[in-house]
Amino acid sequence: LVALSNVNKHFGALHVLQDIDLTIARGEVVVVIGPSGSGKSTLCRTINRLESVDSGSITLDGKPLPAEGRELARLRADVGMVFQSFNLFAHKTVLENVMLGQIKVRKKDKAEAEQSARALLDRVGVANQADKYPAQLSGGQQQRVAIARALAMEPKVMLFDEPTSALDPEMINEVLEVMQQLARDGMTMVVVTHEMGFARSAANRVVFMADGQIVEQATPEQFFTNPRSDRAKDFLSKIL
Ligand code: ATP
Ligand code: MG
Repeated sequence: LVALSNVNKHFGALHVLQDIDLTIARGEVVVVIGPSGSGKSTLCRTINRLESVDSGSITLDGKPLPAEGRELARLRADVGMVFQSFNLFAHKTVLENVMLGQIKVRKKDKAEAEQSARALLDRVGVANQADKYPAQLSGGQQQRVAIARALAMEPKVMLFDEPTSALDPEMINEVLEVMQQLARDGMTMVVVTHEMGFARSAANRVVFMADGQIVEQATPEQFFTNPRSDRAKDFLSKIL
């Protein structure tokens, strides 16, 4: 579904993505882990063209990523993204947040958008918050709204960049549970996270990055019990 081939990117002198080859099959859940600064966020951001690349190709459904214009807007709609900070529209209600893209990008009428927004809010467990503003919600609730808003675009793939890092501990699980359910429902997902429990239980594959390179890819069982590279062993010894 998503294929990166020989992707390179620099920030000035920093070679932040080095010869990245990565394919993600439909329905696959790929967890990306690695030390701070290894390029995980940059990798995510290249997949929906929030960042351009210097060389290499990225395709979605076999088609190269468009560079600009209407095609790019459509691509962004096909690639849902959930960030560490919830990025909801502060001056819109929860319901409006989930309706907006459906109307503007997917060209649904208002009634249809509202119906699907309410169903999605119910799915992530915040149906009763629909008329509140984001600031009136807990962090965990806001992040679940952000997930609902991304899902409202009916994306082909969902990218999560440390979706629980900004949350108080007691709210982490409610967000992870929504993500677990999404994985079980067959959504194609790329998840950057430090939640190793989630990686073990939800991932089909773990991608370990260090210094802009994919150092190792393995099933969670393999990776956590028997990492091959010294970099991964070192990383795991610090976090587990
Ligand atoms: P973390 O775990 O801390 O989120 P990460 O693996 O997501 O780290 P990136 O955010 O992808 O890492 O950053 C990789 C490197 O690129 C870092 O050294 C960072 O400082 C640098 N970098 C990221 N964005 C930019 C930018 N817009 N301009 C210049 N350098 C950048
Ligand atoms: Mg990051």
